[in-house]
Amino acid sequence: MLKLCTLASGSNGNCTYITDGESHILIDAGISARTISRELNTLDIDIDMLDAVFITHEHIDHISGLRTLMKYNRRAKLFSTGVTAQDITNRIPELFDRFSILESGTNNIGDIGISFFHTPHDTPESVGYRINAGGKVIVTVTDLGHVTESVMKAVSGADVLLVEANYDDEKLRLSRYPEFLKRRISGKRGHLSNTDCASCVCSAVGFGTSHVLLGHLSAENNTPEIAYTTVHTRLCDNGIIPGVDVMLGIAPRGRRGNVLVLD
Ligand SMILES: [Zn+2]
Ligand SMILES: [Zn+2]
Repeated sequence: MLKLCTLASGSNGNCTYITDGESHILIDAGISARTISRELNTLDIDIDMLDAVFITHEHIDHISGLRTLMKYNRRAKLFSTGVTAQDITNRIPELFDRFSILESGTNNIGDIGISFFHTPHDTPESVGYRINAGGKVIVTVTDLGHVTESVMKAVSGADVLLVEANYDDEKLRLSRYPEFLKRRISGKRGHLSNTDCASCVCSAVGFGTSHVLLGHLSAENNTPEIAYTTVHTRLCDNGIIPGVDVMLGIAPRGRRGNVLVLD
């Protein structure tokens, strides 16, 4: 069994809870530790029960609650790549002793196996995660400017895919953001557009993905409706029927999503 619940997803903060019923992990801690604790409590999980936190990269929307979270929970392990750990400990030295550097193969927390893959983003090193337990696979991939071959390889065969649908091309083009920021977001190392996300989702479903969650939506340059419709339409154009061939949902920005259970 594998269970996933996003506690927050979006440019204001990211945190995803995953469990196999025995071990409890978070991907990122980009909301306050108080909010993480409150949302976990609604799932009958205490913050003390967390065994590990896996960080994708050091941007503030992925680590803002980390310092306090690791103070609340003295036992949890903390994982990231070496480059990301270095950057975070420069800013939060007390986390130095808590970090484990990700192994390039599988990292084990109880019976959950976690491996990482690189994502193209405007940071020295960022990663997505492939989480495996009881024969089920979850892949989380956000903060990427485009879908590389290695990202697609990591995504293929996932039962559940949490993937970035950051912005709508038209909304970004018309937004009040300065040009340099628009270029950064839409660049090869920025964020994933709804249309690029839709292509990735179609390929993933072709490889057997049964549940897709669209996440890390921009508040300025996207809406849940536009993101959903863009991906939904592309799936239908490819003869894939959402709700029948694949379950399609949105990870809410400022609150936790529904619990997704894979038996
Ligand atoms: Zn980022
Ligand atoms: Zn982010």
